[in-house]
Amino acid sequence: MSTSDGSIYSGPVFDMAARQFETIADHLDIPASERPRLLYPKRAIAVSCPIHRDDGSTAVFQGYRVQHHLTLGPTKGGTRFAPHLDVGEVAALAIWMSWKCALAGLPYGGAKGGVAVDPRAISHRELEAVSRRYMQEMIPFVGPHIDVMAPDMGTNEQVMAWFMDTYSMYQGRTVTEIVTGKPVASGGTEGRREATGRGVVFLAERALEARQVPIQGATAVVQGFGNVGSWAAITLAERGARVIGVSDHTACYADRRGLDVDALVRHVTRTGALAGYSTELLADPADLLATECDIVIPAALERVVDARMAERLRCRVLAEGANGPTTPDADAVLAQRPEIFVVPDILCNSGGVVVSYFEWVQDLQQLFWTESEVRSRLHQVLERSFHQVMGRATSDAVSTRTAAMAIGVEKVRAAKQVRGLFP
Ligand code: NAD
Repeated sequence: MSTSDGSIYSGPVFDMAARQFETIADHLDIPASERPRLLYPKRAIAVSCPIHRDDGSTAVFQGYRVQHHLTLGPTKGGTRFAPHLDVGEVAALAIWMSWKCALAGLPYGGAKGGVAVDPRAISHRELEAVSRRYMQEMIPFVGPHIDVMAPDMGTNEQVMAWFMDTYSMYQGRTVTEIVTGKPVASGGTEGRREATGRGVVFLAERALEARQVPIQGATAVVQGFGNVGSWAAITLAERGARVIGVSDHTACYADRRGLDVDALVRHVTRTGALAGYSTELLADPADLLATECDIVIPAALERVVDARMAERLRCRVLAEGANGPTTPDADAVLAQRPEIFVVPDILCNSGGVVVSYFEWVQDLQQLFWTESEVRSRLHQVLERSFHQVMGRATSDAVSTRTAAMAIGVEKVRAAKQVRGLFP
């Protein structure tokens, strides 16, 4: 099977997901005839979302939703608002969600969606209009037992509240379980907002322990200062680590003595971005990930660690907060650099979907948990997944990424095999 040649998904991000899948399929000896059924998404939905602009004109934004497989239950995945979003990127993210959910033992297939819009370039009212129109267009294709959305880059709790409200208005009743990552005030769960970033640091700490390095006093850099990056930075500071570099799309700061994470968070909460925080601490964003430190956390875009960057890394742990930050060529370099412990994305950032699952379960039951219950159950799942991945990497003598993906792909494959091919 060629990877994505000729499919509607062709493009750098989908090709990367397809290449990774080929590596896993080879490792698991999956026959060529079975591979397309596992790789290609079940459904891709494309919609136009027209809205009234504030100036009275009409604008149309393209929206997508890709549901990768329906074998284990409803699909689950985030919604991304980004200017250059395309269906191939969305499909790749949906595929990674499938392996991630299976690895964590969640009863979901993967999905992803989004709108090609720059959320920072439109007004608050226009953002609400895009969000509501996107959900309205998706109503025939989603549902609490069909496909459950969540936040991703460029979306947040407010957008999830608009999604939930729009869906509910059409149903004539409140359906909180249609999305996760909602505000606690509208059926969200305690602990969801911080779950991904906290989970990243929980796992980075396990990786450091494996290298006999305590997190207290460890140094870290974080690329991206949105939901995942900022909560990772906050948690690092709480655990006694020194955050010596951070960046977002507007600025990059570095200080080997340690940055003041609380002050950075206050600044971003007030102004929306890192720019303007300091003139003295400004640094070159191109060098951030290559900083000499214990933990590097990419928490923004895909494909930021390419083969060149993989050679430049000077860290002990690469904890992948973002989805798909490391290219297959970079993986080949990292295979020759065993001193770097890679916590692969589908394990490292799985805290988000795990707590989304908890939110869905609570909404379905209308029985809500305390934050400490959420956190301790999250830690149990992450601990179990971490040990499964480490065990598999050792037994199969493969990278942590291959081990994590192999566990995920194997579970989806086994479920497809026992269900058979209908009709
Ligand atoms: P977000 O929109 O809250 O934040 C994104 C951050 O990345 C912002 O600070 C933005 O300024 C920054 N950024 C954008 N371009 C950048 C650049 N060129 N250089 C440096 N920083 C840049 O998004 P998020 O929810 O934090 O998601 C970040 C990543 O984590 C994505 O890959 C997403 O898929 C992944 N992820 C998110 C969740 C979640 O629960 N939100 C869960 C799992 C994985």
